[in-house]
Amino acid sequence: MVSRYDLSPDELAVVLDGEPRYRVNQVWEGLYAQLRSPAELTTLPKALRERLDRDLPSALRPVTESVSDSGDTVKFLWELDGGARIETVLMIYPDRVTVCVSTQAGCAMACGFCATGQAGFTRHLTSGEIVEQVILAARRGQDLGRRVGNIVFMGMGEPLANEPAVHTAVERLHHDVGISARHLTVSTVGIVPGIERLAKWREPVNLAVSLHAANDALRDELVPINRRYPIARLMDACADYLEARGRRLSFEWALISGVNDRRQDAIELADLALDLPLAAHVNLIPLNSTPGYPVRGTEPAGVARFRNELVRLGVNATVRSNRGNEIDAACGQLAAGQLSKPAADRTGTGNVPLDTPRRRGSV
Ligand code: SAH
Repeated sequence: MVSRYDLSPDELAVVLDGEPRYRVNQVWEGLYAQLRSPAELTTLPKALRERLDRDLPSALRPVTESVSDSGDTVKFLWELDGGARIETVLMIYPDRVTVCVSTQAGCAMACGFCATGQAGFTRHLTSGEIVEQVILAARRGQDLGRRVGNIVFMGMGEPLANEPAVHTAVERLHHDVGISARHLTVSTVGIVPGIERLAKWREPVNLAVSLHAANDALRDELVPINRRYPIARLMDACADYLEARGRRLSFEWALISGVNDRRQDAIELADLALDLPLAAHVNLIPLNSTPGYPVRGTEPAGVARFRNELVRLGVNATVRSNRGNEIDAACGQLAAGQLSKPAADRTGTGNVPLDTPRRRGSV
């Protein structure tokens, strides 16, 4: 199915054949800049509106929506053409609003600690399926009186394994929706050829590399793609990216108790971060619990200790909050299809002990 955000302007012109020329711009602006569906384009004649609503179908069928207790995190579960399910997270902060989008249904990278990785790969998303997640989440933001200013490609899937669709989505978001590439962040497990291609995009997006381990023995275990693109190659690609772009790079590091949160890990990580032409910024997050990985996230005191060690070594490091945890919307917890109960039924927040894994029924 070709959905409403999959068409190029030329393809839209074909759909609007026989209409006055200016209609193409009018519909395009309505869809992208005004975040409207064809049925809402009241400047169009009613018959045309109805035809477009039929001929340009939405790609995302809403299944459920969970809202965190504080109301500032909303997780959307969508069903795609063919039945696959994906999730999108809207995060509302006092000073900014961020949408976290999925780029694949499932993921083939098989990182053991990630709920999406545990579920395996279903299919790539089209650029339209990626863009529409932003549009619909931004609509929700609008209803709440807020404007979405940042997009992170950190939902389900590996963006650089689906690079053509992700790049087209970035073009649409930057040029048509009007969210500058400087406010878009592509997160990768470390697919080296993908990083090399991204360095050549016209749009200067931010790059986040999910590092999690600073030596190959440990990274081979945590992030299996490391066996194909080991750390030395990955760092070369990061260095080339920095030289081509001059933009900041960040390393993501999920702190796993007793696995990658020791002093030695901080020292190895600092070496990598500081060895780049422009030092990498490190984002720390205690590992979020997932059903298939029986190891805990580092306790808050250990997180603070690790951060202080990095700072002492001269690294810029921030601790990210695991917001959305109680609705399974936190990093690495997105696993549509084996979704948890509605948010209202859940007890407790934060990391749950993994020796008593939460049971997940189907929705
Ligand atoms: N495939 C991409 C983007 C999706 S994951 C990537 O790997 O970067 C987004 C981030 O969440 C990544 O940094 C990923 O390593 C991290 N993540 C995955 N599972 C997690 C978990 N259980 N707890 C904390 N972070 C996790």
